[in-house]
Amino acid sequence: MTQSFDVIVIGGGHAGAEAAAAAARMGAKTLLATHKLETIGEMSCNPAIGGLGKGHLVREIDALDGVMGRVADAAGIQFRMLNRRKGPAVRGPRTQADRKLYRQAMQDILFDYPNLTVRAIAVEDLTIDQGRVTGIVGADGEEIRAGAVVLTTGTFLRGMIHIGEVRIPAGRVGEAPALGLSDTLMRFGFSLGRLKTGTPARLDGKTIAWDRLEIQHGDNPPSPFSFLTKEITVPQIACHITRTTKATHDIIRANIHRAPMYAGAIEGRGPRYCPSIEDKVVRFGDKDGHQIFLEPEGLDDDTVYPNGISTSLPEEIQYEFLKTIPGLEDTRVIRPGYAIEYDFIDPRELFPSLETRRMPGLFLAGQINGTTGYEEAAAQGLMAGLNAARKTVGQNPVMLDRASAYIGVMIDDLVTQGTREPYRMFTSRAEYRLTLRADNADQRLTPVGLNWGCVGSHRQSAFEEKLAGLTLARQRLNNCRITPNEAAKKGMKINQDGISRSAFDLLSYPDVTLAQLIEIWPDLQGFGADVIEQVEIDAHYRGYLDRQDADILAFRKDEALQIPADFDYTAIGGLSTEMRERLSTGKPTTLGAASRIPGVTPAALTALLAHIKQSQRQSRRITA
Ligand code: FAD
Repeated sequence: MTQSFDVIVIGGGHAGAEAAAAAARMGAKTLLATHKLETIGEMSCNPAIGGLGKGHLVREIDALDGVMGRVADAAGIQFRMLNRRKGPAVRGPRTQADRKLYRQAMQDILFDYPNLTVRAIAVEDLTIDQGRVTGIVGADGEEIRAGAVVLTTGTFLRGMIHIGEVRIPAGRVGEAPALGLSDTLMRFGFSLGRLKTGTPARLDGKTIAWDRLEIQHGDNPPSPFSFLTKEITVPQIACHITRTTKATHDIIRANIHRAPMYAGAIEGRGPRYCPSIEDKVVRFGDKDGHQIFLEPEGLDDDTVYPNGISTSLPEEIQYEFLKTIPGLEDTRVIRPGYAIEYDFIDPRELFPSLETRRMPGLFLAGQINGTTGYEEAAAQGLMAGLNAARKTVGQNPVMLDRASAYIGVMIDDLVTQGTREPYRMFTSRAEYRLTLRADNADQRLTPVGLNWGCVGSHRQSAFEEKLAGLTLARQRLNNCRITPNEAAKKGMKINQDGISRSAFDLLSYPDVTLAQLIEIWPDLQGFGADVIEQVEIDAHYRGYLDRQDADILAFRKDEALQIPADFDYTAIGGLSTEMRERLSTGKPTTLGAASRIPGVTPAALTALLAHIKQSQRQSRRITA
């Protein structure tokens, strides 16, 4: 008998794991179908989670009860809060991860997840009935039915590895590409493009001259990703830093014609912000060295990931240039670096729910949508899994807007603007950075997740406990008051204007700390470090946060103006053919989204706004 599930997720990478867990948390009977069970949670490239912008995504996933944060905490071997000295808006948690521990922790969680079945199936095709997806077909011909399918195949769609002149069809090194699914998507008219990414050689740590290199320690104590993790218990390690030299660059320049990107063998674009070493040498020719972080891949693994020198030069050239790098003169290469080219789908094919416009019931998440990075993939997976589950019970899709989450920023960027190169998250992509901080992701999103039904009872009670602490701390800070005269006696520099101030007001002064206030009001002590961090940020940035709240209100007004999916732009008089084309292709779902389509002019937006308002007035008259 044909098996049947509510939701089937294809692919057990970072998007797939999060999509399957989210659908299952929503109560959907879910199947995760992936090539191999043992590669679930595999990190295809760098063994690290988080970073600037990416760390925000992990905290947001965690706030919605996703799994990535907890898995990273169970596998992290060097935690660092990036930009610690800068403002809280741009601080990014990051950890170096032990690959094996990461895979293990992810598999432990998923194999035991309620409502979730995990099976090794190479999915060859989708079953489709009257344009709607109805299930999957395995390579052995097995059909399994589903109410919704989430496709998260990463770099596997017509994947092709390049090492110099050598080409190997593969989804990842040693793993076959997915060909059938690409054909099906093309047959149904999906707009496919080609992108590329790359990875460096892996080195044998036993052959690196560590004692000659600069050492980099992690934070002590480490800050976990998950709001549920109290303490990191995995042993922590140090990383080392070295640099490329003039001799390295000379070798790369002399052989650049053998790099597939430069020999014309690769048509796809690579990630602008994670360039290969050959791109760095060509683009920044005047630099005499590029930094390399030597990152151990695990606690009981000698493999080292040299972060910063991804390459697709021929194997022998890789060996040659590595020997010119201090500390690596005698290093043994375990596996050469390579570039991979793969199909992606133009994300403008998607609704903001991540369901495809072309094929109802089919959702896409992860690298298949033109993004790069584990965190970007996982964040999309979570939203796609949630919406797939909702679809199967007839619920409306849910979305996060640009003022609520980095997840919202990313999805809005993708579906309104598309992408021509692998999309990566940065804090600079968000307009409301001070509001969308990594430290407050739980306050922003856990209540939303509770409302959607994707947050479990354990997280709910932990969150409520923290919220109670925050409310009490804020109350106490507001109730404690002091006159300028008394404050001066305590050594605080305050304007002698006769107006009394609360402890919360005082905390907003740059040179006042909570420790000083506790000396005056002892009952301000006893709060946890997370609560203290929050109230200090709230107080210090109160003025800016208030201004940002006003901007967010204005933004949401435009977002509230909905544009129907079948809107006819030819009906708007005064719109140029170019504007009609841009809007018809972009298919914005709100006036705000229309304003973010590249090239759409303020005049076109004014005409669109007038037309929407007129249509609304007409339909109100008809209803009345
Ligand atoms: P993946 O993690 O690739 O997972 C895809 C999953 O789908 C796999 O489990 C696969 O087995 C499964 N699958 C595929 N097809 C089928 C099928 N037909 N049937 C069943 N299962 C299937 N990111 C960065 O941020 N920085 C980098 O420097 C970087 N370099 C990279 C270098 C390389 C060589 C590669 C391959 C990736 C690199 N990435 C990098 C990207 C990062 O690995 C991905 O963005 C991330 O893993 C995407 O997650 P995903 O879930 O979309 O896909």
